[in-house]
Amino acid sequence: MGPPGVGKGPQAVQLQALLGVPHVSTGNILRAAIQEDGSPLGPKVRQFVEGGRLVPDGLMGDLIAERLGRKDAAAGFILDGFPRTLEQVVILDGVLGRLGLELDKVLMLSAPESESVRRLSGRRTCPKCGSVFHLESRPPAAVGVCDACGSMLVQRPDDTEQVIRERMRVYADQTLPVAAAYRAKGLLIEINGFGDVTAVRERLTSGLGRA
Ligand code: AMP
Repeated sequence: MGPPGVGKGPQAVQLQALLGVPHVSTGNILRAAIQEDGSPLGPKVRQFVEGGRLVPDGLMGDLIAERLGRKDAAAGFILDGFPRTLEQVVILDGVLGRLGLELDKVLMLSAPESESVRRLSGRRTCPKCGSVFHLESRPPAAVGVCDACGSMLVQRPDDTEQVIRERMRVYADQTLPVAAAYRAKGLLIEINGFGDVTAVRERLTSGLGRA
């Protein structure tokens, strides 16, 4: 967990390699559906994602049940961006109960809002392979071109200033109560997400007891 721009995605990618379990990012799944021609989900979710609003819980519940039910998730997974509402906490409990699984820990990254906004507004992503760059802190070798696959980089439609503000508001209103629910269950570990990627990764692995 953590507010938009705190670095959940890049950290989850690194933890995926360390733990050998898949990184399940609901944002990535939704963006892939929007890009994919003929996806039944894409047109239903586009307006929510691009406007920085949450996709309805019912749709998210179907999506997460399908994803966590796949074979590669049977031995564990890193959830990134789900659950984001109290209703999704209930949905996730139901899905995990049916699969005979439990959450081990809920890691919450935090950073000053000004740092998150800086990271989001300078972020550029590759629409083809998903690589993420930053205009100042991780610029691509050639301006506007993905180092990994050579495609033209884009700014996510929800990384514009107005939509960033909406995403921050939604996080405070709908997702902070999720943190409180996991704190009450004794699962929440709060981690300082400010600093370079390696320093934050070390805090996360020590929070997981893997340092
Ligand atoms: P993210 O990549 O995690 O920042 O997610 C990007 C966008 O996808 C969010 O602003 C929402 O519009 C949508 N989204 C991702 N995860 C969820 C979720 N668990 N519930 C509702 N909408 C979501």
